[in-house]
Amino acid sequence: MKRSAEVVIVGGGISGLTIAYHLAKMGHTDVVVVERRYLGYGATGRCGGGIRQQWSTEENIVLARESVRMWERLEEELGYPIYYRQGGYLVTATTEEEVRDIKRNIKLQNSLGVPSRWMEADEIKEEWPWINTDFVIGGSFCPTDGKVMPPRVVWAYARKLREMGVRIYDFTEVRGVKVEEGKIRGVITDKGEIETGILVNAAGAWSREIARMVGVELPNTPYRHEIAVTEPLKYFLEPMVINFRYGIYFTQTWPRTEIVGGIGNPEEKPGYNMRASPGFLNMYTKVLIRFMPCLRHVKIERQWAGLYDVTPDARPILGDVDGYDRFIQAHGYSGHGLMISPMVGKLIAELIVDGKTSLPIDSLNLRRFEEGKVIREANVVG
Ligand SMILES: Cc1cc2nc3c(=O)[nH]c(=O)nc-3n(C[C@H](O)[C@H](O)[C@H](O)COP(=O)(O)OP(=O)(O)OC[C@H]3O[C@@H](n4cnc5c(N)ncnc54)[C@H](O)[C@@H]3O)c2cc1C
Repeated sequence: MKRSAEVVIVGGGISGLTIAYHLAKMGHTDVVVVERRYLGYGATGRCGGGIRQQWSTEENIVLARESVRMWERLEEELGYPIYYRQGGYLVTATTEEEVRDIKRNIKLQNSLGVPSRWMEADEIKEEWPWINTDFVIGGSFCPTDGKVMPPRVVWAYARKLREMGVRIYDFTEVRGVKVEEGKIRGVITDKGEIETGILVNAAGAWSREIARMVGVELPNTPYRHEIAVTEPLKYFLEPMVINFRYGIYFTQTWPRTEIVGGIGNPEEKPGYNMRASPGFLNMYTKVLIRFMPCLRHVKIERQWAGLYDVTPDARPILGDVDGYDRFIQAHGYSGHGLMISPMVGKLIAELIVDGKTSLPIDSLNLRRFEEGKVIREANVVG
């Protein structure tokens, strides 16, 4: 194990891996990624793979838009198949209130260059006859939204990072952080110490634990989110279909062709429980069949759970921490960290190397919670 590195990144999920990749691209390969289990063990390896630009806040729309431009080139850049497809997202409305919110969001999204558009129920029916338009009264569709296969993205980055000379230590746990007068000096792992002056906290739902090792309190809360896949079916469902009111999302995976999806449980208590539950299947399939009655007799093959790392405004926490030198935060994605990871990785690498970023991220700094400058992202599933 290396005993010192320019940058140590805690967390071998999508956040840590993309930051490491952009550092390496900028010529900084003296970087170590430390992962307590296997790469993708956290939310990244358990997620739905959806990539959406249809958000309600400007920062999320711009981060997602820029990320989509990068997703479009990523497979070629990393030289490994990640099964990225741009089949769109259909954000459905089942009430007049949802219609109003979605139409307002379309205006904002269009003003920022995202090509979402309103579709009436009959147009939805014509395009996707399987969707139950008895209660879906319309929706917004963005054709450049899409999906990807998350484990493949992890493998693609890991492979490329190793080629570029970045060290990845899996099954290595960070147990402490050495700090002197607000300056990061190193991390203590179960396999020994690594000296560093720059520490990136990309530990997902466990970021709060890492921050506490430094003496920083984060407002993040972990919540279990469950997900399931059906048996494979002939490929017919290209877009990701979602509804914020029911908290449901579903699509068909490519190339495995299962229907993958999940639903938020409003009764879920905060915590680190990652066990799958029968109650989820009941709740999810009832709503799924309401949206897609044709799936009534399809068999569920697997279900699992992961953690959302939720912030009070459902927006990520990115950047430095006041009073601490070079303790960089990259977490709190609140259920949408995969989709924005390409741009977030680039911005955090820029912050580390240049001390400034090509897009402003100040409004996503941890200090917003103290300053009360909190704008809530409304378009969250679950
Ligand atoms: C069911 C589900 C569906 C989702 N669907 C989508 C979707 O469709 N689209 C989307 O964009 N997002 C989705 N998300 C959210 C997305 O998965 C996350 O936002 C994203 O993966 C977070 O990545 P991360 O790297 O921040 O965290 P993680 O992937 O959780 O990685 C953090 C890593 O840190 C490691 N770690 C923790 N503590 C330590 C320590 N002390 N030492 C060393 N390592 C440590 C953990 O083991 C973990 O591997 C979904 C999430 C879930 C749970």
